Parts: sequence; C-alpha cells; structure tokens
Amino acid sequence: MTWRIHDVSMPVHHSMPVYKDKADKRPEFETKADFAESGLRESRAHVDAHTGTHVDAALHMMPGADSIDLLPLEHVVRPARVVDLSYVTGAIQVSDVEALNVHEDEFLLFKTANSKEDIFNPEFVYLGEAAAKWLAEAKIAGVGIDGLGIERSQPGHPTHKALFSSGAVILEGLRLHHIQPGTYFMVAAPLKWMGVEAAPARVLLLEGVSILS
Ligand SMILES: [Zn+2]
Repeated sequence: MTWRIHDVSMPVHHSMPVYKDKADKRPEFETKADFAESGLRESRAHVDAHTGTHVDAALHMMPGADSIDLLPLEHVVRPARVVDLSYVTGAIQVSDVEALNVHEDEFLLFKTANSKEDIFNPEFVYLGEAAAKWLAEAKIAGVGIDGLGIERSQPGHPTHKALFSSGAVILEGLRLHHIQPGTYFMVAAPLKWMGVEAAPARVLLLEGVSILS
C-alpha cells in the first residue's frame, strides 16, 4: 500500500501565532517535575481551547448548543476537499464559493494566502457572511480555513452562526502551504474536552488511502 500522511497542524509553542497576538493566549508548558529532582519529566499545559489548529463546537457561538465532546467523529474523520483560494484578499465571497462546484455533504478546506505566512496577520483572509450562508444552504458538512479565525470584524459573528445553524463543522488554524488541491481522507479528531466549546486537534490529510476508492 502506498499512502502518505500530510500533517496540516500548527506547531504549538509559546511564540506561535495566536489570535490578535494577545499575550494571555500564548501557550505555556510548565515543568512540574524534572530529572534532577524527580528522575522524570512531567509538564502541565496552559492552553487556550482555540490554540493553533482546532475544531470549534456550536457552543462557541450559541448558548446551550453542543460542546466539542459531543461532535460525532464521523463529521471530522472523513473525506475532505482542499480548494485553492489563494487569490482572495479580505473576505471570501459568494462568487468564490459558487465557482467551486460544491456538493451536498462535502467538507471543504480553504487554502488561502494565510498559509503563506506564519504570523498573526490582522488582515487575514476569512469567510464572509454571505458566502457562509451560501455554503450552509448548499448543506456542506464542514469548512476548514488556514487562518486562526474563520471570520473577523463581523459584528455578531454571522459566519460562525450560519455554519453552526446548518450543522456544519468549523476547523481553524490549518497549515496548507504544502498541500495540493484535491480530495484527501481527513483525520481531525479534537481532544475530548468535556463541556468545552472548542479543542485543539492534530489534523492529518491522508493521500492514496483505499477508503477513497
Ligand atoms: Zn475557534
């Protein structure tokens, strides 16, 4: 069998890009035990739920909605299609998604100019409200993007809400610079954090696996 694993996850460390470069969003790994004192090493992670590559649950934007532990794994371990939107600046528009020949129940991963840089750029490419509504009406299964947020500067967070209202999954913080457009088998299982509105995930795109045939 010849298949390849593409890791599309962000490395998690103290000086990684975090949303708006806020100091209190920086991950800290605290050494609780070390070899000199204890003969082994143990660390404690202080990590925001939206750190790096992560999956949002509907509870992020909608009171009483499902938390991340309730997300069925079938929704995030499944085929997904990487599409090239690297020409887009600012918001992804309806015309951009209309051109993708989207099918019902597809999981789309947007490769944008965000993947070309490893900093938090306040002008990052995001999914505009109208395009999100269009995708929700097209009954897509989920959307992933290579920015730390799927939207920015939209009062009331309409992009998140449109997608969550239709049951679509939101993946944020992907790294897609090394990925060719096309369909892969995606593994994007979030950590099983009970009652939390999001969780980090190690996201893998598998190429050439027989499950696609
Ligand atoms: Zn998030």
